[in-house]
Amino acid sequence: MSSSVALRLPSIDGLLRHPACAPLAERYGRDSLLTGLRQLLDELRPGVLSGQLSAVEIGAEVLAGRVGERLAQQQRSQVRRVFNLTGTVLHTNLGRALLPDEAIEAVQMAARYPLNLEFDLASGKRGDRDDLIEGLIRELTGAEAVTVVNNNAAAVLLTLNSLGARKEGIISRGELIEIGGAFRIPDIMARAGVRLHEVGTTNRTHARDYEAAIGPRSGLIMRVHASNYSIEGFTARVPTAELAALAHAHGLPLLEDLGSGSLLDLTRWGLPAEPTVRQALLDGADIVTFSGDKLLGGPQAGLIVGRKELIAKIKKNPLKRALRVDKLTLAALEAVLGLYRDPDRLAERLPSLRLLTRPQADICAQASRLQPLLAEILGSVWQVSAVEALGMIGSGSQPVARLPSAALCCRPQVSKRWRGRYLLNLEAALRALPIPVLGRIDDDALWLDLRQLDDEPAWLAQLPQLQVDR
Ligand SMILES: *Cc1c(COP(=O)(O)O)cnc(C)c1O
Repeated sequence: MSSSVALRLPSIDGLLRHPACAPLAERYGRDSLLTGLRQLLDELRPGVLSGQLSAVEIGAEVLAGRVGERLAQQQRSQVRRVFNLTGTVLHTNLGRALLPDEAIEAVQMAARYPLNLEFDLASGKRGDRDDLIEGLIRELTGAEAVTVVNNNAAAVLLTLNSLGARKEGIISRGELIEIGGAFRIPDIMARAGVRLHEVGTTNRTHARDYEAAIGPRSGLIMRVHASNYSIEGFTARVPTAELAALAHAHGLPLLEDLGSGSLLDLTRWGLPAEPTVRQALLDGADIVTFSGDKLLGGPQAGLIVGRKELIAKIKKNPLKRALRVDKLTLAALEAVLGLYRDPDRLAERLPSLRLLTRPQADICAQASRLQPLLAEILGSVWQVSAVEALGMIGSGSQPVARLPSAALCCRPQVSKRWRGRYLLNLEAALRALPIPVLGRIDDDALWLDLRQLDDEPAWLAQLPQLQVDR
């Protein structure tokens, strides 16, 4: 007697009524469950027909389990928290600055309730969203006026287009930079309708170079802060004050893209010097642009500050409407700027500054504390050591400056030809944790820079789930 009775997949109705599926319907909704079951059965059908699947593999409990896993996977948010142990504090790919509690509360308020986004509560008339932060920015930078857009790239684009369209923008060859993500000054100028007039050379540009370029077609002089590289050696650069004097003598505005644009002198916290927005304005720049989520430590935004009549012109540009910020950004930005009123407590309250100024001794102590725990989890194939390391600020702030830090350095104790694979596997295993852990591979080791490991309990709690070659 043959036992080749054809297997049959359970029916959708039967599955829906099965006790193993009831909780799934409750949790994910009947429609999602139905879709999930249909997909799964469609996938299994060929295997059943060809006899490759056993009765157990298509049992109701097994199918319910598989659908449950898929639905859980689908429901999990695509936007995930991670541990940034790369050593780069303001990491563009990992969301740059972390917001302070004050800003998070402001964002919640703005998300939950109607607010006076463009409404003047004093007069009862229509308002301007830039007004919400104008007072603070003027106080903190000395600027006459302000407008805010989506990011600094937008700030540069909008400013160039508003002040220099159909005219020439004069800029040093040493400042024709690429920021990354396809933001290149020559391309942005072209898109802004400004004709690029480059002057000087890569390493040296003099006042006479700018002067020779000025003519009837000139619209503006631009200066870009070399944020993500450094030119050293035989160099010359015209100081902002001198360049501003030259521009003004010819009736041209000087636009300065500061990139990070710090509001305060960072050397007060032992960090490398960055030009401040106030100083650039004092030196005579007519418009200064900078990011909200780099050294400022706020939400993604581009701030345009400077002379009143130029800001008015920029605000009238129809592109401003396309590039403006939303209420959540403004709420967060105002809260962050508010913290700058009390510089003495800024490093405690602003997460990016707190992380950037965290003492190395602190990080070293943390590394020594965690080293035995990670060593135990990784097993004898891995040599785990607590070592000093060098991190960086990131986001094009001070590309050559290094932040003295400490790291857990994981070296696979295997022959050279296997090392790369072990490292990639460990990297992948760390990424597969519930809160993915991101480090960096360098010099045949995986480095976990601990400067930004604030939430040590959450990090430790998930370590036992690490699945790695031992
Ligand atoms: C970072 C940077 C930009 C771009 O700023 P985003 O806020 O990332 O759009 C533009 N110019 C300079 C000099 C920068 O450093």
